[in-house]
Amino acid sequence: MKIPHRLYLTEDQMPRQWYNLRSDMKEQPDPLLNPGTLEPLKEEELYPIFCEALAHQEMDAATPFVDIPEAVRNVYLMYRPSPLVRAYELEKALDTPARIYYKFEGNNTSGSHKLNSAVAQAYYAKEQGITKLTTETGAGQWGTALSEACSYFGLDLDVFMVKVSYEQKPFRKAVMGVFDAHVTASPSMETEIGRKILAEHPGTTGSLGCAISEAVERATTTPNCRYVLGSVLNQVLLHQSIIGLESAAALAELGEYPDVVVGCAGGGSNLGGLIAPFMRDKLTGKKNPRIVAVEPASCPSFTRGRYAYDFCDTGKVTPMARMYTLGSGFIPSASHAGGLRYHGMSPILSKLYHDGYMEAVAYKQTEVFDAAVLFAKRETILPAPESAHAIKGAIDEALKCKETGEAKTILFGLTGTGYFDMTAYESYLSGKMSDHIPTDEELQKGFDSLPDIPQNRI
Ligand SMILES: *Cc1c(COP(=O)(O)O)cnc(C)c1O
Repeated sequence: MKIPHRLYLTEDQMPRQWYNLRSDMKEQPDPLLNPGTLEPLKEEELYPIFCEALAHQEMDAATPFVDIPEAVRNVYLMYRPSPLVRAYELEKALDTPARIYYKFEGNNTSGSHKLNSAVAQAYYAKEQGITKLTTETGAGQWGTALSEACSYFGLDLDVFMVKVSYEQKPFRKAVMGVFDAHVTASPSMETEIGRKILAEHPGTTGSLGCAISEAVERATTTPNCRYVLGSVLNQVLLHQSIIGLESAAALAELGEYPDVVVGCAGGGSNLGGLIAPFMRDKLTGKKNPRIVAVEPASCPSFTRGRYAYDFCDTGKVTPMARMYTLGSGFIPSASHAGGLRYHGMSPILSKLYHDGYMEAVAYKQTEVFDAAVLFAKRETILPAPESAHAIKGAIDEALKCKETGEAKTILFGLTGTGYFDMTAYESYLSGKMSDHIPTDEELQKGFDSLPDIPQNRI
């Protein structure tokens, strides 16, 4: 049987529950800490920041499957199940015996997988009677997805957008405007922490860490307002598990199982979602696929970071999480993969990586764009720069197969489209794109910002 180019599951086959990867981890990620007491955080302590249902999902390591609420499912059905595509043309171009599949999450208006969690988070806030949400956005994909979700559920939204993206991607701001979101370049003069960061680092292009601080401050100082985050958190990985569950179901229909699963890693949400069912098989000893995280060499949390307790933001207002981190004081260079410029990494993925269940590689942005352009030409989708990291990772795996002659099955996550990233493509095409790889000294400055607490002195 010739395998079809695109496999869409039917609406009925779309999963009705999310899967909580922690429920199958014998060793759990270390708990979040209250930065004041250094004691493990209690669920109630999160209520001023997150709505209660989401605070519960954040802390719940026991429930394996969580029902997807009907209202969330109804939005999902406007753009899901998303297609699983066999990359025949890319395979031919690489002359590889490998079979390459990608799960395409860019076929919704927001253009990325972020909508999967945005819809869920807006829904739970609305259910609790919250009227306004605040958030940060790096490249703008999360802000776009969340503005769509907030507009759908009738919530106000304030978005703090990392300054470099605000300037590089004016159209992102316009899209958020269509959905009535209020967008501010971060760091801004609108918050106390923004003013402090600007005083210390005048001329900074900002970072996700700064923008998070500002959004959290806005949430905790505004009535009936909560903060939401588009990555890193356990709840976000839970919502994104739909990517992996659909991928596993579609591959099973084709009689396939991946030997290698590749995904790009910013804060880890798409990767955590994509690998969820496959990691489950690994944790339960059923199967043993390789899992590969791909990150930018300019922001190498896994490959050069420390596994330590750290703040999730630059202003040090959030709880502390144990994760692979470059230090909350690390401000990455202004690379074009804005969605991957985060100092930390999902605590769940960090634990799995630390325990040897995953591998990680880092690539320079010019080689990532080489892969993006090859992919665009062969598969006719213009990928987001973030997604192109996964493409590069999958291509390298396929080229290894060419050398060894092994016909492996490779699955990668194509998280989004790059139509708002034309400044980046222009820079690549004109040959002006450069690669900044931080020196050990630069990284050391970030590590120096790690909290000096007993838990970090082991
Ligand atoms: C945000 C984003 C990423 C990275 O975020 P993760 O939480 O690591 O998934 C990757 N790809 C796209 C298209 C994004 O918008």
